[in-house]
Amino acid sequence: MPYVHDTLERLKKSSPAQTEFYQAAEEVLECLRPLFERSPHYHDHSIIERIVEPERQIMFRICWTDDAGKVQVNKGYRVQFNSALGPYKGGLRFHPSVTSGIIKFLGFEQIFKNALTGLPIGGGKGGSDFDPKGKSDGEIMRFCQSFMTELYRHIGPTTDVPAGDIGVGAREIGYLYGQYKRLTGRYEGVLTGKGLDWGGSIGRKEATGYGAVYFAQNMLQARGESIEGKTCLVSGAGNVAIYTIEKLYELGATPITCSDSRGTIHDPRGIDLDLLKELKEVKRASLEEYLANHPEASYIPANDYPADGHAVWRIPADVAFPCATQNELTDGDAETLLGNGVTCISEGANMPSTAAAVDRFLDAKIAYGPGKAANAGGVATSQLEMAQNSSMQQWPLEKVDAKLKEIMANIHQQCADTAEEFGEPTNLVLGANIAGFRKVADTMIDQGVV
Ligand code: GLU
Repeated sequence: MPYVHDTLERLKKSSPAQTEFYQAAEEVLECLRPLFERSPHYHDHSIIERIVEPERQIMFRICWTDDAGKVQVNKGYRVQFNSALGPYKGGLRFHPSVTSGIIKFLGFEQIFKNALTGLPIGGGKGGSDFDPKGKSDGEIMRFCQSFMTELYRHIGPTTDVPAGDIGVGAREIGYLYGQYKRLTGRYEGVLTGKGLDWGGSIGRKEATGYGAVYFAQNMLQARGESIEGKTCLVSGAGNVAIYTIEKLYELGATPITCSDSRGTIHDPRGIDLDLLKELKEVKRASLEEYLANHPEASYIPANDYPADGHAVWRIPADVAFPCATQNELTDGDAETLLGNGVTCISEGANMPSTAAAVDRFLDAKIAYGPGKAANAGGVATSQLEMAQNSSMQQWPLEKVDAKLKEIMANIHQQCADTAEEFGEPTNLVLGANIAGFRKVADTMIDQGVV
């Protein structure tokens, strides 16, 4: 279809060298072809040209002083992508791999993910190429304060509400919030993922991981199966991976792996969750230290990974949860996973599978939940935090968790129904992209040319 093709070609010319952004845009737009055939009015309204262009992009310099007294300089970003459905909502990522293209891909995904939650939130994303690894608390604080000194003028509880992502957890949100409050004098729900004593939602920290497991449960139930008794692969060792592992244990499954940038742990009897929390949440240590307590587990250093892919995906299991980062699961990994008989994949990270890997999963018709559906529990619970902040309440865990379960089940249902409507009942990628897009596009049309 020339409409999809021409828009993608123009995008590559006007936004050069943003590979991950093209990958994300291509995946969504390719899925929309059957929708555009049925509903040509989207073309008349130039909806895809409008939707691939962020409403606003803010780029700024962040200067801060390290512990040695040297001035350091980083790049800061906030992409306010689409506000049709509500205030811009999406995390901040602090990682050396961050570029404007990475933030754009994440912001673009966020539009459709947020739409799928059914909650009133638009899509945005931000971050910096700052590397928190090895930095002291003081350095992290000074960096966060400098970051917020620029960002505060662009955000607010009804305009743009950032949260965490890779490299941004409770500690960073605390420093960012403190500086926002100091600069504006306002105590308000401008960030989510806050501490539980100062406006955070109970259950937010756990929500992305729990949600990814609920989504796997929904996919398996639709096929007459259950997560109970399954052996599971998990990549990553951050917030998403840790609470994926926690929920898997609660539901009677056995997670046998986790990984960080330096290597992979394979513990066939099941990952020691308390130790993992201690290493990553308290000590911020390398996973290699896991072996000191569990010499029977194996550690695969990142240098020994297969040329095409990641060691985690070469270990035989039933279900896989990619919870690390974009493009961590390659074509070769997908082939191995399928060869080993994996029947279900639920993505806790954003776009963790390459386009070729996704094609393999779809061809094999396994239960495959793409990130924008499977990991939406995090941002959905952020919106629950916004609701609690604006009504000055704090809800109990039971209420938050019940809502999270319901939201994940609704997302799964929407994706499955839409996939069915377009004649590809097992294709939740198609279902997620069309269902998310339709909601945003119809709203943009309702709201006129703005
Ligand atoms: N960074 C998370 C995501 O990718 C959460 C965003 C939020 O809570 O605003 O969806």
